[in-house]
Amino acid sequence: MRAPQRVPLAGLPERVRIWEVGPRDGLQNEPHTVDVAVKAEFVARLADAGLTTIETTAFVHPRWVPQLADAEALMTTLRRRDGVRYPVLVPNERGLDRALAHGVTDIAVFASVTESFARSNLNRSVAASLEMFAPVIARARGAGLAVRGYLSMCFGDPWEGAVDIRQVVAVAVRLRELGCTELSLGDTIGVGTPGHVVALLAELTGAGVPVQEIGVHFHDTYGQALANTLAALGAGVTTVDASAGGLGGCPFAGSATGNLATEDLVWMLDGLGVWTGVDLPALVQTSGWLADRLGRPSPSRTVRALAKGE
Ligand code: MG
Repeated sequence: MRAPQRVPLAGLPERVRIWEVGPRDGLQNEPHTVDVAVKAEFVARLADAGLTTIETTAFVHPRWVPQLADAEALMTTLRRRDGVRYPVLVPNERGLDRALAHGVTDIAVFASVTESFARSNLNRSVAASLEMFAPVIARARGAGLAVRGYLSMCFGDPWEGAVDIRQVVAVAVRLRELGCTELSLGDTIGVGTPGHVVALLAELTGAGVPVQEIGVHFHDTYGQALANTLAALGAGVTTVDASAGGLGGCPFAGSATGNLATEDLVWMLDGLGVWTGVDLPALVQTSGWLADRLGRPSPSRTVRALAKGE
């Protein structure tokens, strides 16, 4: 079985845009430095496999994320393909300056919904971190860039436990006021379940956030990522974040399973007849190629199954 049988399900979008996060979110926690040439080839192969939005790197201080210290070199060597967007994560104005110097057209900022994660990750309160992003977003928009706002810990927090949906809505509304052109709802520790997803989306759209501007970013820590994705698609979401080969564990969960694997997502969407433009065999080949370079197998079920010829 090399492809699923195509059997549509009512109530889903005709097409989904996959926001590929493997090169940035996937690789950033790799313990050994991955060569910039390997990263550039990885990004190029992802584009060749049909992915059209590939979050490539982050212009953060190298001390914070040593793996991404080669952001300039990567953006310089990258073979960019027409019709493909290469967003980069930008934490502050210095990062924005670096991104603009490299002709970036899409940036993302990484906000927290909870005070605990804002303190630990951004070293400031939720409100203070949003104000820190204000000039970054304003300048980026002024320069004609698209700006994605990530919201982390939307479905639970490792220190605080349950997260009130109203907290998520407040941060989402503020990010849009500041000028974000789209949002990504992150289940950073992978604890969300489908009813929670639908309830959060209902509150957000009720607060005036268009569903077309909402992406979902699920982690598979508790095996919920695809179920949550299907629930989100049923609620009108058309942008789904995923990481090729399932790269990138969650640093807070001590588990091997982190990001939803792009291949697992594409298998489901292919079966549902939802168009993504992604060539699954080409993507599986790319993840296998990268796994060889990282020295360990991909955690993606679909990559493993197809590699075994099941
Ligand atoms: Mg992630």
